[in-house]
Amino acid sequence: MTTTLLGAVEAGGTKFVCGVGTADGKVLDRTQFPTTTPEETIQQVEAYFAKHEIQALGVGSFGPIDPVKNSPTYGYITSTPKQQWGDYNFLGRLKQSFQVPIGFDTDVNVAALGEWTFGAAQGTDSCVYITIGTGFGGGAVIAGELLHGLSHPEMGHMLVRRHPQDSFAGLCPFHGDCLEGLASGPALQQRWGKPANELPKDSIAWDIEAYYLAQSLAAIILILSPQKIILGGGVMKQEQLFPLIHKQLQQLLNGYVRHEAILKSPEHYIVPPGLGDNAGLCGALALAQQTLLQSN
Ligand code: ADP
Ligand code: ZN
Repeated sequence: MTTTLLGAVEAGGTKFVCGVGTADGKVLDRTQFPTTTPEETIQQVEAYFAKHEIQALGVGSFGPIDPVKNSPTYGYITSTPKQQWGDYNFLGRLKQSFQVPIGFDTDVNVAALGEWTFGAAQGTDSCVYITIGTGFGGGAVIAGELLHGLSHPEMGHMLVRRHPQDSFAGLCPFHGDCLEGLASGPALQQRWGKPANELPKDSIAWDIEAYYLAQSLAAIILILSPQKIILGGGVMKQEQLFPLIHKQLQQLLNGYVRHEAILKSPEHYIVPPGLGDNAGLCGALALAQQTLLQSN
């Protein structure tokens, strides 16, 4: 019996990662290249998969996108300021190149699917995946399904209460001091005048960061009650953030959500990605497999 080969694309605003693998989440080969114009970038995607005979493709895309299947603009990248990618029919263009079933969703929803299928959230009914990097985004699997609605969740733009010692204005072009405006990698860099990875581990920067992250997690827990929360992205490489977040979250919720995951063992509840930097790619394999099964 031959194994089904699946294709995966992690389409980021800065770089694209393409890979091939199997339905059990094993990545057999991968490559990456910078994101340039849509046409040039997609030609590179085509060139990569020309070397591999895939039977379905899963794509996790930067956004905002339209992920709603019955919408006329399903598969479009919608309002990005990124040159030439705004109002771009990304999925439509991929369908011209690849005559296989294609699953399409946000980068963070796909990463959530990866962690739920193969990683830290295996065996749960629901999980939220958050990335804190250049931006701040969140995706979710709820009762085994990726979370959509009007569009997709935009957890990074929720509003938070200010830390009393933080006077940084925030850098979100839409909201100023929303979560992304205050707690993304670029926000840290602008507030403290140096890249986040150069800040000392005991800097107050991390207490302030944890204060904002804990608020976002409290809101997520109160709204979705997920069984696992995964925190990834460049900023979360600062592992000292985890215990700070756990403590601040317990203080914020103040015993109200009475579950041992929060009261006793937040270190098993709010965790780094089980798949490390592969959550997106493995999630795209899982999405490819789902799409293949649904097309049969
Ligand atoms: P992207 O969001 O572009 O996919 P990343 O998740 O790596 O990529 O996020 C990049 C951001 O994360 C940058 O703002 C950078 O300053 C920050 N970052 C990357 N590595 C670290 C680190 N080790 N510690 C703190 N911040 C980091
Ligand atoms: Zn915002």
